[in-house]
Amino acid sequence: MSHNVESTAFRSALEVIRAVEPRVADAIGAELADQRESLKLIASENYASPATLLAMGNWFSDKYAEGTVGRRFYAGCQNVDTVEALAAEHAKELFGAAHAYVQPHSGIDANLVAFWAILADRVESPALKKAQVRQVNDLTEADWFALRRELGNQRMLGMSLDAGGHLTHGFRPNISGKMFDQRSYGTDPATGLIDYDRVAEAAREFKPLILVAGYSAYPRKVNFRVMREIADSVGATFMVDMAHFAGLVAGKVFTGDFDPVPHAHIVTTTTHKSLRGPRGGMVLCGPELADQVDRGCPMVLGGPLPHVMAAKAVALAEARRPDFADYAQRIVDNARALADGLLRRGATLVTGGTDNHLVLIDVSGYGLTGRQAEQALLDSGIVTNRNAVPQDPNGAWYTSGIRIGTPALTTRGLGTAEMDATAELMHTVLTQTSAGTGPDGAPSKAKYVLDPATAESVGKQAADLLTPFPLYPEVELG
Ligand SMILES: *Cc1c(COP(=O)(O)O)cnc(C)c1O
Repeated sequence: MSHNVESTAFRSALEVIRAVEPRVADAIGAELADQRESLKLIASENYASPATLLAMGNWFSDKYAEGTVGRRFYAGCQNVDTVEALAAEHAKELFGAAHAYVQPHSGIDANLVAFWAILADRVESPALKKAQVRQVNDLTEADWFALRRELGNQRMLGMSLDAGGHLTHGFRPNISGKMFDQRSYGTDPATGLIDYDRVAEAAREFKPLILVAGYSAYPRKVNFRVMREIADSVGATFMVDMAHFAGLVAGKVFTGDFDPVPHAHIVTTTTHKSLRGPRGGMVLCGPELADQVDRGCPMVLGGPLPHVMAAKAVALAEARRPDFADYAQRIVDNARALADGLLRRGATLVTGGTDNHLVLIDVSGYGLTGRQAEQALLDSGIVTNRNAVPQDPNGAWYTSGIRIGTPALTTRGLGTAEMDATAELMHTVLTQTSAGTGPDGAPSKAKYVLDPATAESVGKQAADLLTPFPLYPEVELG
């Protein structure tokens, strides 16, 4: 039985919860067990430190703190001020940004804050000024009508979804698609890479108010200096959504032209992906947009989550330590080893490889849809997610791709040798799985056939791969 502080902390917390609703305590314990057992290759997930997790479970959650540091709409916010200022300070130092706004509850919220800040900065709108100083409930029907008329039809140019862009960059299912008249840039069909000349051409034709760069499924670096030049050439505000790769920026793997912070007018991110913090979002910008960004609450955000801001401060302090740069470099080394291992065994990768934390496998070469491959891999203890590939013939639901990423397994300590072994296991599953048929004998995009003995054997090997790298070794729930 271990007596370290982390074990004591989590065990005690569960004991307190168990006394009220034991099923919640059981579910929390089961979640740790499940995470420990799975070979997690989900590119957007990670494992936050015990200090980050513990910073969230406390009475900061009880506090209302609308407003910003030193300017709150509620009394008694001095301790919230301390943690919000600390989180912002760490973020500014870590990323070299003039201003950091650490209140957004998620990546989507960070993007909404950025969009409204840009609109307020760029579009002359008395109705918007009124909306910003009033509670939204006080606006009349006529105010809303004026707001829509004054702001309507602003243009956004972002990366297309099937090339790896994100829903929040102006696509229909998200509010951004209703706020903006959107056009997207794709990738070169031959190379899979962003063609900057085509982006420049689209920008010249479309004249967007906002040019957005950033992705959740593009396995390469983006040249932000060139993107900024394109934005400047048409007078667009250049926004980068670094939700996926913030950890690589923090760890100085992406520098120079590939570091978005010196090149963009405004940068948004999540804090829970490669950055390895609590679930949340953040906005970085220069002094010009700072005031507008700080109006995020109450413009589009509810009251801040002070317990999560405390955890952001902890995680950002961790990311400023030298070992985080080592971690970021290992993420990329591991992704490269995984890509090389898959290529050597005959897989087709979008863009032919990777230079960030993620790899996109085109599984059509195995005769499978993304959905069939995802399920077969899951049956074999390998957790991935299906993802569209450029011009995907199977659409966004079934897809033809599998997206994998290395931030989580790298946190556990797995290295390049284990990545090669992982490639072997994936190759085994993908070559042994075949497409199934529906009840009428017609080909199915969802059904598949995989010998359960193969799935079991791979599952066992995947578990063996994890054994030397225990997850949260400092936490024993007993
Ligand atoms: C994950 C992601 C988001 C959304 O983050 P949430 O915290 O899930 O709202 C936004 N943009 C990009 C590029 C992402 O990858």
